[in-house]
Amino acid sequence: MIAFIWKILEDLYQFAGFNVINLRYFNPIWAHPSWKLWEDPDGIPNNLLPFIMKVANGELKTLWVFWDDYDTIDGTGVRDYIDVNDLVDGHLLAYKKLEEIQPSPLTPLPKGEGNQWFCDVYNLWVGKGISVLEMIDASRKITGQEISYEILKRREGDVAEVYCNPSKAKEELWFETKVSLDESLENSWKFYKK
Ligand code: UDP
Repeated sequence: MIAFIWKILEDLYQFAGFNVINLRYFNPIWAHPSWKLWEDPDGIPNNLLPFIMKVANGELKTLWVFWDDYDTIDGTGVRDYIDVNDLVDGHLLAYKKLEEIQPSPLTPLPKGEGNQWFCDVYNLWVGKGISVLEMIDASRKITGQEISYEILKRREGDVAEVYCNPSKAKEELWFETKVSLDESLENSWKFYKK
């Protein structure tokens, strides 16, 4: 699916006259202090953070930790979690870069001389991997709750570690994450504890 969307973006660049910035990220923490953006799935969440929060607030009893024998710092899966507010900034910075290249990025450029063409990919990530157990510890600290968990087998399709180097986005988009993991968890907890 992701590769398919990339292909569409490249086609828009190559054949339709659009300048394109392709932003790559995973594992956003959805917690906007305005309370307008939340991740609140029904039932048992597929993703780690809402599951942790639902155990912390008593909605669910025990967190399932999918495997503790990966080749990682403590055996649990490692991901690069990014706050949704930082992601919003990343999108605005990308749009600003497109505007610098062409004042109205949503209007396709006619083929011809004098036009600048641009298509590139940027990673919007913190650049730091955090394990499931580290995430549980950090959440215990913020919520003051026990957060009990049990170790289950690997979830199909999961990989041990996903994190990345965001330096290109830093250098070329001036992207910098501002929200710490603790702040992100605090914002999440504000929502889940109510
Ligand atoms: N994870 C877990 N229990 C869950 C959900 C996720 O242990 O109920 C682990 C998962 O194996 C991975 C990490 O938490 O190592 C992040 O998983 P999530 O589903 O949030 O994101 P993704 O797998 O898409 O990176």
